[in-house]
Amino acid sequence: MENLVKRAAKDLAESKYAIALTGAGMSTESEIPDFRGPKGIWTTNKEAEAKAYQRYELFRNDPKAYWEEILGLRGTYGTFHEKIRKAQPNPGHYALAGLEALGILKCVMTQNIDGLHKKAGSQRVLEYHGSVNAVRCISCGSRFAREEISLDELPPHCKCGAVLKDDVVHFKEPIPLDVMTESENEALQCDLMIICGTSAVVYPFANLPRMARFHSSGLVMDLDLVENKTNVRIIEVNADPTPLTHEGVSDYLIQGKTGELLPRIVEEVRKVR
Ligand SMILES: [Zn+2]
Repeated sequence: MENLVKRAAKDLAESKYAIALTGAGMSTESEIPDFRGPKGIWTTNKEAEAKAYQRYELFRNDPKAYWEEILGLRGTYGTFHEKIRKAQPNPGHYALAGLEALGILKCVMTQNIDGLHKKAGSQRVLEYHGSVNAVRCISCGSRFAREEISLDELPPHCKCGAVLKDDVVHFKEPIPLDVMTESENEALQCDLMIICGTSAVVYPFANLPRMARFHSSGLVMDLDLVENKTNVRIIEVNADPTPLTHEGVSDYLIQGKTGELLPRIVEEVRKVR
């Protein structure tokens, strides 16, 4: 284990354009419940799962009711939403912010909607599935901080006249084009990707490590790719092996908690750079 921590630190210190990909494993260490784990919200509450699948439709059909759910005026979703908004970063989040401050990490791309990377001080964060702290116009694409928007009258409206939605991307809702395009560009140009707390099975987010590995946005397989593969380092910091480990997308897995391992890796980076 210690050897792998040192290896990751060396790879990071030598990288020219390192980026991080993070998922639910980082949030659970900040006491945010996951959805599909053994004690996950949807594992234990099937009704909540069914409602989650309908939430985008609810916004389209009845935006006022949608906002009432978010604000906790009806149903139980508001309680969950509020809990996420109050969560605090853990040492894993601070470690990635530190790595960016060192000039090594260029970007964090996350599946998490909790905004904890920004709270920890990370500057360049692409929130692939949106954030509970932002509000977005699905017509013109403008984003606003939640505090900027008056919620006295529901639903709130954008300056362009369209109804505003919170920024969280729900089931059946398209990933906002700006975030998706920027994330793909990052994956294509990085020479190191550190994957933290995600098994990367939810698409299209799960395609990002593969894009980094094969330097291709498609699923092309030819001999050139073998050459490309040697240029990119992909490191996994995960509790368990994932499809990325099994398929050889990642070079190596450092198995354990991101809140413990990432600070150790960054400490080593400071020694070797
Ligand atoms: Zn708008």
